[in-house]
Amino acid sequence: MKRDPRFDILFEPVKIGPVTARNRFYQVPHCNGMGYVQPNSLAAMREVKAEGGWSVVCTEEVWIHPTAEIVPHAEGILWDDGDIPALEKMTEAVHKHGSLAGIELQHGGYCSSNNYSRIPPIAPSALSVSSYDPVQARAMDKTDIINFRKWHRKAALRAKQAGFDLIYVYAAHSGTLLTHFLSRRINKRTDEYGGSLENRVRLFRELIEETKDAVGDSCAVAVRFAVEEFLGPMGITSENEGREIVEMLAELPDLWDVNISKWSIDSASSRFEAEGYQESYISFVKSLTSKPVVGVGRFTSPDTMVSQIKRGVMDMIGAARPSIADPFLPKKIEEGRMDEIRECIGCNICVMSDQISVPIRCTQNPTMGEEWRRGWHPERIEPRKSDDGVLVVGGGPAGLECALALGQRGYRVMLAEATSELGGRVNSESHLPGLAEWARVRDYRVQMLEGLSEVTVYCENPISSEEIIEFSAKDQFNYSHVLLATGATWRNDGIGKNHREPIPGLENIPVFTPDDIMDGASVQGRVVVYDDDHYYLGGVIAEKLRSVGHEVLLVTPAPQISIWTQYTLEQEQIQKKLMELRVELSTQTELVTVNDGMVELSCVVTESRTETACDSLVLVTERFPNDELFCFLQEQPEKISKAGIKTIRCIGDCHAPATIAAAVYSGHLAARELEAEPQEEVPFLRERVKI
Ligand code: ADP
Ligand code: SF4
Repeated sequence: MKRDPRFDILFEPVKIGPVTARNRFYQVPHCNGMGYVQPNSLAAMREVKAEGGWSVVCTEEVWIHPTAEIVPHAEGILWDDGDIPALEKMTEAVHKHGSLAGIELQHGGYCSSNNYSRIPPIAPSALSVSSYDPVQARAMDKTDIINFRKWHRKAALRAKQAGFDLIYVYAAHSGTLLTHFLSRRINKRTDEYGGSLENRVRLFRELIEETKDAVGDSCAVAVRFAVEEFLGPMGITSENEGREIVEMLAELPDLWDVNISKWSIDSASSRFEAEGYQESYISFVKSLTSKPVVGVGRFTSPDTMVSQIKRGVMDMIGAARPSIADPFLPKKIEEGRMDEIRECIGCNICVMSDQISVPIRCTQNPTMGEEWRRGWHPERIEPRKSDDGVLVVGGGPAGLECALALGQRGYRVMLAEATSELGGRVNSESHLPGLAEWARVRDYRVQMLEGLSEVTVYCENPISSEEIIEFSAKDQFNYSHVLLATGATWRNDGIGKNHREPIPGLENIPVFTPDDIMDGASVQGRVVVYDDDHYYLGGVIAEKLRSVGHEVLLVTPAPQISIWTQYTLEQEQIQKKLMELRVELSTQTELVTVNDGMVELSCVVTESRTETACDSLVLVTERFPNDELFCFLQEQPEKISKAGIKTIRCIGDCHAPATIAAAVYSGHLAARELEAEPQEEVPFLRERVKI
């Protein structure tokens, strides 16, 4: 296929100081939970981006000195020459595909507690660290400032030695020593580095100049700068100091990578922001500099990208999440394969991986993070091993992904779905407030399946275990493998993390599950939502019911509502939204018994009891795997083998209920493993420390 000439502009080269990017697709720095701990995994993941057409591929933040580290988070490290070989792996991998490698040098100032190095953190002024750690940073003296400049220069030289083409001076996300110097909230110095804006910018300017001096002959020097901090007049805003700083330094760096701060706002989920959400803050930058400008905004639509360039908002399309969901996004546009773009859904499961320091994963792209460990590639898959047919039962995320990957392997696949629509849980969940983009999990797969003649979809086909056995030998079907992706059902008895027995008295009151709410059940009066699941659903259901006028009390045993969403950077925004909607919130609270028209609650700390009125109760606790088919079939080994069925496997939520990302991964894994060599004896591949 040929690319649409409308998109030609996206493939123009861009000169960045002494180097040239071959197109306008720019993978901005992004964390990944691998960092210095897993350099092979990291290099393989970055390589796939370069291969997929991103002309610049950057690292995550790379710590330049032990005076600022946030171990156990797995970011990059460049403290001495011994760290160069690990980073070289990445630059070599990126260069193989003709892309430029960028490195984001980072010193976290007072945002680093230094629990590993045990060095007191440093900052422009003495203050408490930004976390809850009982640690304070000390004020830097002149020698400290000189030292910091030396460390940065040395790191830049080492980065050059490691093969990087583009070296960042990083002042974004409110978490860098440079942003601390820029900020009048943090920087209370009375010397030439504090006070006036000119003084607060001094260190930033010195660092750009010194980095250019050190490596600027062959490396581009990029600046990452957050032009808006949403902290009011005491912070950087795009209308005053953010703008003035860009004006002051306009022509100094070779590239401006601009965004908004803090990270939870920069990486806002689709629940809170739509594609292109940063434009109104960053669009002024291009009018102040002749240097290339990069911006982000969860861009997945080539038309939006072209519009950003043509309207002069930015020169290069920056992306972290869209490049994670589809490392081949640029190639697909280049080759006119727009229908094949796996669009990011803005769920921030990728961010979660970094937050809990495990290798990156993605809801849309099951191969993400598995490039080295499992040797998975987002666009290539092992061809089928035989002419066997495969039956996949259930067309939710797991079944759809499994059928797609099997079809791509060339297997003849029959996908049976009970309802009239493919999509499973994403169909219903994407109708909840803020979750519309999640339908992309279904849409991408349905679209791709349409192009695969090997896969036949049978909707409105609730298949029974007898039929599975009976149909296997029928000529028109004839399958030898069965994959069950029949999903899970929310419980209505209150059993969950905090109750291992049913909640007493549920018969006294109308009780609903998330499935009922999503099916449009009629809820009456004052609603109590009991959330013992702790991810998004409890909060979203409270929001939905409140929006249609119910009085809603959201109760959870956890110390925060929707507590797990802290890892997807959404917790604060969720809580804010619910509070603005006037949903009552009760944390650290247990639901103990239910009576007519009321529920009894108990504080999880003191066990003191209270009663509150309740006309309808929604229980968001735990799910039953829908594994009846699997259990039944397992009990029929003779019939199964007589029917010519060689393997039966349960995948996704019917295997173990979890996230949509886990279901997609499970479906993909099963498809890759079909007829593969048995894996039992193969150890779990990991990056061992060399002794
Ligand atoms: P997962 O997240 O594991 O993919 P979902 O609950 O999203 O699970 O999807 C399960 C899908 O399986 C639903 O679309 C459901 O209608 C379908 N399904 C369940 N049982 C059967 C069955 N016996 N035959 C065909 N489809 C089924
Ligand atoms: Fe996008 Fe979610 Fe994948 Fe992250 S995990 S890249 S937000 S789809």
